[in-house]
Amino acid sequence: MHLDALLSGVYEMSWMEGRLQLVNSVLSSLPTYAMCTLQVPAAVLEYIDTARRHCLWRNSDSNAKFKPLVAWNKCTRPKKKGGLGVINLRSQNSYLRMKFLDKLYNRKQIPWVNLVWNTYYSDGKTPHASKFMGSFWWRDALKLCDLFRGISNCKVGDGKTVLFWHDLWNDNIRRNKFPRLFTFAKNQSISVASFLTQENLTDNFHLPLTEQANTELQQLPDEVQQIRESVIEPEEKDSWSYIWGNSTYSSTKLYHYTFKNVNPPKPFLWILESRCSNKLKVFAWLLLMDRLNTRNILKRKNFKVQGDNYSCALCQLQREETAFHLFFNCPFSQDCWRHLNIQWNHQIDFFATFQQARDLHGSPFFMEVFIIAAWQIWKQRNNFIFDRGRPSFIG
Ligand SMILES: [Zn+2]
Repeated sequence: MHLDALLSGVYEMSWMEGRLQLVNSVLSSLPTYAMCTLQVPAAVLEYIDTARRHCLWRNSDSNAKFKPLVAWNKCTRPKKKGGLGVINLRSQNSYLRMKFLDKLYNRKQIPWVNLVWNTYYSDGKTPHASKFMGSFWWRDALKLCDLFRGISNCKVGDGKTVLFWHDLWNDNIRRNKFPRLFTFAKNQSISVASFLTQENLTDNFHLPLTEQANTELQQLPDEVQQIRESVIEPEEKDSWSYIWGNSTYSSTKLYHYTFKNVNPPKPFLWILESRCSNKLKVFAWLLLMDRLNTRNILKRKNFKVQGDNYSCALCQLQREETAFHLFFNCPFSQDCWRHLNIQWNHQIDFFATFQQARDLHGSPFFMEVFIIAAWQIWKQRNNFIFDRGRPSFIG
């Protein structure tokens, strides 16, 4: 058997979707129990990631040398964002534990929340303006404070959980709104509650102020008035809400939010929406990522191919076998596309070509037709390379 038979071809592919399922449903959820509660050490996460990479790209033999077909950060994108939907454990671990901060800052009626406030923060300082205190578990959770504040906006109630200058509250960060006045603040980490309890607002500042700082000070009473108006009950608690627009914290929402600006080319979404089997979807995904083990890729990875022949096996043109040649430019595949009435305009961008071909084809099953035909081309190529028969258009 040729060496590249071990590396590519339908046999490997047919198992890959099973391995992806294994990675996603079993290996990724093994550590979930610990991940909900503790900061899992980086070395442990790295160990699990290595196991997941092995499982995805090679067989169960964990000693086998392997080269991943696709960079890990592309695999860990959600499927709707053009990835394989493999969970990024580091992010997941942080986002799961941030639910503790959600409970803490919203002062939920839970015994441990009351205990933490009464034990560590009875002096009026907010958790993120205090020295990290408490058990290792709690100190680890507090390390996520900056991340938490980065995704939240506080609607001020009594102002006890929020910093006057640094936090985003009532849709503004006062340090940015009053930059000159800020430099005169006596305590830059003062909570909103403590700031407001000063008898005179000017007591919060080192005097005298510059003219510009003084101009900013004149606007402060409006801000203060606004807070007082927004507090309906005197004992109203601060309420923290999140960038996705409501006050319900969800690690899943946050996980997906971080991919908000990732917009993969549409054909990746068409693969996802197609009615093809998962096996074919993974194959099509690798094809569009240009990560199938075609001979040019094998050459790049320094794999020896029999006879040092890196040319396309489906035609006599002696062209190097790239995915582009094999699936689009090769006379064999061109015949296939003509037969299926699919026209490729290679004068434009690759993914725009897809859009145009789909529009011209006009069938709701364009993507299914494309994926199945490409799969057949790939099978013909493998059959020929591995001596299982000459390419046949009829086949
Ligand atoms: Zn060819």
